[in-house]
Amino acid sequence: MMNSPPLAGVMGWPIGHSRSPRLHDFWMREHKIVGFYVPLAVPPERLEQALRALPSLGFRGVNLTLPHKEAALGLVDEIEPLARRIGAVNMVTVRADGTLEGRNTDAYGFAENLRAAGYKPNGPATVLGAGGAARAVVVALQEMACPEIRLVNRTRERAAKLAAELGCVVGDETALKDSLILVNATSLGMPGQPSLEIDLAPLSPEAWVTDIVYTPLETDLLRRARARGLRTVDGLGMLLHQARPAFAAWFGAEPQVIPELRQAVLEDA
Ligand code: NAP
Repeated sequence: MMNSPPLAGVMGWPIGHSRSPRLHDFWMREHKIVGFYVPLAVPPERLEQALRALPSLGFRGVNLTLPHKEAALGLVDEIEPLARRIGAVNMVTVRADGTLEGRNTDAYGFAENLRAAGYKPNGPATVLGAGGAARAVVVALQEMACPEIRLVNRTRERAAKLAAELGCVVGDETALKDSLILVNATSLGMPGQPSLEIDLAPLSPEAWVTDIVYTPLETDLLRRARARGLRTVDGLGMLLHQARPAFAAWFGAEPQVIPELRQAVLEDA
């Protein structure tokens, strides 16, 4: 047991679409690590049972994806403060004594993706959305010391509630005017969803535009921003960077986000 290859995975329902196994497999090959990262189809009513089975099965940890991220908050033994603030757990580590620790690395992934592109938070940010992804984005921008975060959402009350909870403001129709970054944290732009209709003209030429939707890789929003000469960052990098702390914790090597990784994750899609 002691010397068995490291074992980790991702729990979701459904799970077939997850790209996480491909990216951990890529890093294992890169670092010449023999181990396993497996997709685990776990229905919501079995999540607790599945998490509690991890120590006996020899897992070092699992990532959580839809629909488990919020439910896990009430199921693990200890939650890091950042995950509590975001209200979601996407990484569960099995500790030596068999207890489970919940973390959230989505905010880290979002921030690292922007940092890697050269973004510096030296002006207001406008975040579109008020769901789970928007929560992680707002907390990430706060952790980066962004001076002002304006939330804009279809359902205004939801934005107001989240703004009050996390300590940011609700943006109005002038929000974009002096914003230095616009973040789409809604599901608009994904296949089967309408594209995001927003006039980018008020943004300064110095502004950044980023989308956390990564299917398609270049959303209509990013295409229009690029056509205006704005700096754009796609959402795939967030997915890749959020996986780094998990790989380091479970497989014992510091992985890098390199162009070949992006390619490997996209090729198999
Ligand atoms: P969610 O909790 O369901 O929230 C969806 C958000 O989109 C809400 O703010 C909702 O507004 C808005 N919205 C949906 N349909 C709309 C429409 N027709 N018009 C205007 N607004 C609309 O979803 P989520 O978990 O936050 O996920 C959002 C997106 O982020 C998904 O596409 C997900 O794949 C992506 N994501 C990406 C990463 C990554 O690593 N890149 C990580 C996490 C999530 P209302 O409040 O008005 O309903």
